Formats: sequence, structure tokens, C-alpha cells
Amino acid sequence: MITPRKMKFYSAKDIDKIPQLKKLDEEQLFALRVVSEVLPFRTNNYVVEELIDWNNIPDDPIYQLTFLQKDMLAEEQYNRIAEAIIRSGDKEDIKNVANEIRLELNPHPSAQLTVNVPQMDDEPVPGVQHKYKETVLIFPSSGQTCHAYCTFCFRWAQFVGMNDLKLATDESKRFQKYLLQHKEVTDVLLTGGDPMIMGLKNLKAYIEPLLQPGFDHIRTIRIGTKAVAYWPFKFVTDKEADGVLRLFEKVIKSGKHLAIMGHYNHWKELTTEVSHEAIKRIRNTGAQIRTQSPLVKHINDDPNVWSKLWQMQVELGCIPYYFFVERNTGAKNYFMIPLVRAYEIFKEAYRNVSGLARTVRGPSMSALPGKVAIDGIAEIKGEKVFVLKFIQGRNPEWCKKPFFAKYDEKARWLTDLKPAFGEEKFYYQDELNEIIRRSNGQLYFGTGVREEEEVADNVVEF
Ligand SMILES: *Cc1c(COP(=O)(O)O)cnc(C)c1O
Ligand code: SF4
Repeated sequence: MITPRKMKFYSAKDIDKIPQLKKLDEEQLFALRVVSEVLPFRTNNYVVEELIDWNNIPDDPIYQLTFLQKDMLAEEQYNRIAEAIIRSGDKEDIKNVANEIRLELNPHPSAQLTVNVPQMDDEPVPGVQHKYKETVLIFPSSGQTCHAYCTFCFRWAQFVGMNDLKLATDESKRFQKYLLQHKEVTDVLLTGGDPMIMGLKNLKAYIEPLLQPGFDHIRTIRIGTKAVAYWPFKFVTDKEADGVLRLFEKVIKSGKHLAIMGHYNHWKELTTEVSHEAIKRIRNTGAQIRTQSPLVKHINDDPNVWSKLWQMQVELGCIPYYFFVERNTGAKNYFMIPLVRAYEIFKEAYRNVSGLARTVRGPSMSALPGKVAIDGIAEIKGEKVFVLKFIQGRNPEWCKKPFFAKYDEKARWLTDLKPAFGEEKFYYQDELNEIIRRSNGQLYFGTGVREEEEVADNVVEF
């Protein structure tokens, strides 16, 4: 029997209420306070009581996953905000300094949020991103927060109120009309934040209409969520748990596929009884659980962590899906790993599991032209190169076609890479420029073509 648990969120102002934090010394506590003025901080009682090993802090991966660390800011930034706190205690002053630093952390200014937002009747469709032909992303307005915040999350700016919810659906739910008009779409992916933060009533309001006639072309509904890791009670003992499962069953009965895209960063998230029970109950509805995570320094930058994670997932009936390269925003210098190392970790972990876990694909960068995977490192005619391929492309014809970049030990993202063999640009570049110009010209290229990474699209990769 799993005892029901009442959810308690802890934010920066509740630091005193977390008894386990007595393990920290004054300096560490102060650092947590300081950094949480700039970056979002939220954890919950399940994460604190069951997932973190308090005898292993600060190195414990789940501690690193939800608790802010001093080094997540550059030393100079840290000192600037710490001084503001000591200097004045004046809220306005602290806030101004915090915002100044946030702007230095590549927060994706709001204009960039619109890069994949489609138009209908000459108006943008709020809460929708449509980048790849067959899949539409929906950002429900009431699903834009999470049961805890991952310290590496590239949506961090949204959680501190910088990018407001321009991205999310509005009351009119125009996205439904958009879907009715777009018969090429087979998959709808509810994402966030975390859509599973929504109550049952809201969840139904997003999912049930898609089961109606007119939406027959929608064959799969996906839900990107970290709730199975951060709050498995959602599916087990919460008041609405049974209702949620019944809703899942209803999707399956309608003849569509339901895929829970479970975000798991470390196998520790799969060690509790309730985490197993949640998976079992979800799978019993007929839904599948596919899993994904970015590679993050301090949390999972070790091949053994990954092979164990994938193996455990297979045993629990989950399907490993994506291994992402962490994006270049927020505390990126704390978390990012060179592509060479990302490839090595992936390769080593992949070699250590059986074929059933090799459904995972990566290391994948979700970048402006598409999802680009590092397929290998090779030497071709005397030149050391990265072998790359699209897993998803803005033009589907780019998929699978290998292309090559100069080997670069320091490169951390697609935009750091240069074409191999003396070529000037990657084969897709002209076409990509054309696609962007056509879809969003005025917004992104009105003032000249910006750096690709500057317009890196803002899509949650659960
Ligand atoms: C990853 C992603 C999808 C889904 O791609 P699949 O390969 O079908 O999993 C859809 N839209 C965007 C914007 C994505 O980044
Ligand atoms: S990675 Fe997902 S669960 Fe974590 S903070 Fe970001 S949106 Fe929330």
C-alpha cells in the first residue's frame, strides 16, 4: 500500500521550512538564497524526502537537479547579486540587479518565442508550435509550471516571469480550429511547463475534444511530463488519480495512441515504490511511456548512469526515446558538456545495454534547422569529422542524410560547428534561410540575419 501524500511546494521563501537543509552550513544556505533571486527555485516534499540522499550533498544528482548552486552563476554575477542583498535588502534594488543578470543568461527574449508559432487567418495561433509537419505542440495555459523546477531547464526565464505566457493557449482555444484545418498533422504533443500539473478538468478540456469526429487525422496524443518522476502520486493516490487514468483509457478506447513522454534524468527517480506503481498504472490504461532527458553535467554525465537508467526503464516497460544535448541558456556553463564528450557518454552507455534499450536516439541537439544527432566521429580522407544527421528536419527530406562537421573538441552546440572538407556551409543552410524567411521573415530577419543560436527555438524537450 502506498500512503497518499499531500503535496508541499518549497520555493525560495520556504527554505527555512525544509528540515533537511539544516545539513547546509550558513554559507551554502546564503548561496541558495542568492542564486534563487536570479534563477527559479521550486522543489517539493517527495523530492526532498525520497529522492535526495542528504548524506551525499552537494553531489547528490537529485539535489543538483532541483537545488540551486553557487556556481550556477558566474563569480562576478554572484557577487553582484549577493552585494545587492547585503547592501540594501531593498526589494526593488535586488530585483533590478537580478533582471540585469537574467538578461546576460540568454533568456530567449519573447520575440523568439514566436519562431514556430503558425498563423491562421493572418493571426498567430497562441499556444501552438508547428515545426515538423506531422507533430503540433500545444502549450496549455494552465500547464506552464511544474511540480519542481529542474535547475538546468531552458524554460527558466518563463518561471521567473520574464517571458510571460504569450506562448500559451488563450481562452478561445483557437488551436483546435488550427488542428481541424491541418490534416497533415498526426501527432499532438501537450507540453509546458508540465501539462500534468493541470487538474483533471483542464486536462479533459484539452484532450477530450481531440477524440471527436473531425480530429480523426490525429492518431497519437503525447503528453510531455516530468510528473511521473517529480510527483508520481498524480497517478496513484491523489484524489484525481483514478480520473486521470480513466481519461487515458478513454483515449485508447477511441483508437488513438497515447504516449506519455516521461522526463527522467537519473535512475534514482525510479527507485521508489510509488514511482513503479505510477508506471504500472499508466501502462495498464494502454498508454505507452517513452522516456527522454538531456545530458547534464553534475547530474548524469556518466555512461553508467545512463545504461542503468535505460535498463531500469526497459524492465519497467518504458521505452527509451531521446538523449538530448543540453541547451545553451541559463546556467549553461555549469551544465553544458562538449559534444565530443556527449558522444562518448552516449556511445558507452548504448554499448552496455541490449537492443531493447537501443530505441534511444542521440545525442540530439534540438536546434533551429531540426533535431541533429551526432552519429559518430570518423576520419575521412585524413580529416577528423563529426558525422551528423537529422532526426527531424524542418524539411523532412533532410532526415537521415549524413553530413559532416569539422572535429572540434570544444564545440558544445550545432552553432559551434563548421562544415568539414573546406565547405562553406552545411547543405541545408540556404534552404533553411528560405524557410525561415518565408514563415517569420519580418520578425527574425527584419534587422538582418541574427546568429542562429540567438533565435534558437523555444521548445520544451521533454
Ligand atoms: C522533438 C520535437 C517534436 C517531436 O519529434 P518526434 O521526432 O516526432 O519525436 C515535435 N516538434 C518539435 C518542435 C520538437 O522539437
Ligand atoms: S525540464 Fe520540464 S519539469 Fe523541469 S523545470 Fe523544465 S519544464 Fe519543468
